[in-house]
Amino acid sequence: MNKEDFCPYCEEITRFRFITKQETLPVMGEPVEYQARVRRCAVCRGEYAPTELEEENFKTAYTIYRRRHNLLSPEQIRVIREKYGLSQRNFSRFLGWGDITVHRYEAGALPDAAYNVMLVLIDDPLNALKVFMLNRNNLAPGVAEKLKKRIQELIRKDGRGPGYGDDEACGAADNLSSVSVKEP
Ligand SMILES: [Zn+2]
Repeated sequence: MNKEDFCPYCEEITRFRFITKQETLPVMGEPVEYQARVRRCAVCRGEYAPTELEEENFKTAYTIYRRRHNLLSPEQIRVIREKYGLSQRNFSRFLGWGDITVHRYEAGALPDAAYNVMLVLIDDPLNALKVFMLNRNNLAPGVAEKLKKRIQELIRKDGRGPGYGDDEACGAADNLSSVSVKEP
């Protein structure tokens, strides 16, 4: 179907159609081949992509890069965060990251490999409990208290064995954490 819009080559409103073509975009210095969607002007046959189409094409290339490197998608990151009932800022603080890191990831920025591993691990409430014992002071007391209850609830729901997730287990995780953070 033909539509009309401003053609940057003709410098006037012309009819165009969408075409797909193979393109390569460097993502984190790595060439990613993908199917780009661009407009082709019916008059001059020039190909162009307005900003929103450019963004769509970037997303396509990023998605391929994510799959290749097993990086979580913005949607997957949001689901993990919401499981713990935290805002983007508080989730960042919980993980010991800069305040806007999670916001950037959920907006589409590619997570650094080490941060991606952290996000994959934190999906497990038992790991979340250990991180909580390390980083709870990064959170306001009310937020921390609510988070602890939420993590305990998730662990119980997972049926991870009696005692796991109660205050005693938190204490155990606390000891575990203090051992594991010691320098060799
Ligand atoms: Zn044109």
